[in-house]
Amino acid sequence: MIEARCTNLRPSYTNAASKSRRVIWGGFNPLYLRPKTLDEAVSLLASTGGQILAGGTDFYPALGDRQPAGRVIDITLLREIQGVSFEPDLIRIGGLTTWTEVLRTPLPRCFDALKGAAREVGSVQIQNRGTVAGNLCNASPAADGVPPLLALDAEVELVSAVGRRRMPLGQFIAGNRRTLRRPEEILAAVIVPRRMEHAASAFLKLGARRYLVISISMVAALVQADEAGRVVEAHIAVGSCSATAQRLAELERDLVGRPARAGIGVFVTPEHVAPLSPIDDVRATGEYRRDASLTLVRRALDACVGGR
Ligand SMILES: Cc1cc2nc3c(=O)[nH]c(=O)nc-3n(C[C@H](O)[C@H](O)[C@H](O)COP(=O)(O)OP(=O)(O)OC[C@H]3O[C@@H](n4cnc5c(N)ncnc54)[C@H](O)[C@@H]3O)c2cc1C
Repeated sequence: MIEARCTNLRPSYTNAASKSRRVIWGGFNPLYLRPKTLDEAVSLLASTGGQILAGGTDFYPALGDRQPAGRVIDITLLREIQGVSFEPDLIRIGGLTTWTEVLRTPLPRCFDALKGAAREVGSVQIQNRGTVAGNLCNASPAADGVPPLLALDAEVELVSAVGRRRMPLGQFIAGNRRTLRRPEEILAAVIVPRRMEHAASAFLKLGARRYLVISISMVAALVQADEAGRVVEAHIAVGSCSATAQRLAELERDLVGRPARAGIGVFVTPEHVAPLSPIDDVRATGEYRRDASLTLVRRALDACVGGR
């Protein structure tokens, strides 16, 4: 384990007069810890109650001018939870996998929406640092990674010193910036079943500008068709239009049996987006968001079936 007696932020000073000389370095209790294994990390979390730091792209902006309260446990050396691995029935995305790694990994077709989202997370620099788990644990309603993973029926795997547990992503994200993660748990992996890996998928994000933008609305769609060209299963998730991104269950049911070809979007009605509860804010009005979501859902479905 790598320790430092000071955070990588500003040290604190005893008083103004002694600013240049006397620095409190944390005594015998390091403030910044950098474990090398998952076991070490979870036992540190349990014993110190520290906060997890991954890419830092949400962690540091959230602090503003403040210093972190308590210990910071930097998990970026945990190789066990980096990268994507394939098992017979599932694909495991390590929590520390960056958005750039998601983009660079050859993945089945149903992951096209997730790759589309990865391309939209901030800028290339942010994609190089920001991780999948960081995006989910931060639980912003506008987190780009959430709708595509919801559409993939993803689960999260949480590890602590006392064991592992799994739960559906839709359950894990419990509200605006709220998750069911316990403080002593690390999100070790996102698990995607391979059941629909040949399904087509698409991700569309609307912002006030084309690049480096927080979304007004975003949609991930996944469509599985049979040999006769009919929809067998469709998953549609919308983000930025409610406290947590959500699937449109009624639309998903109504699409089954429809022809999976260009123009499929006409089957989407305003009632299908009624479960959304978009708010007015600096980016858009709730009314505009609802209208935009309807258009995005139609376009995403068309994109899945080779329409637009
Ligand atoms: C300029 C800029 C633009 C951005 N644009 C976008 C955007 O367009 N779309 C978007 O979705 N996001 C955007 N983000 C937010 C951010 O980049 C992503 O959410 C990123 O995926 C966060 O990952 P991270 O590794 O940096 O998380 P961190 O900042 O390290 O952590 C975020 C939170 O998750 C916790 N955490 C991290 N990893 C784990 C883990 N494995 N287990 C448990 N808890 C964990 C941390 O304790 C912290 O509370 C942007 C950020 C910046 C600075």
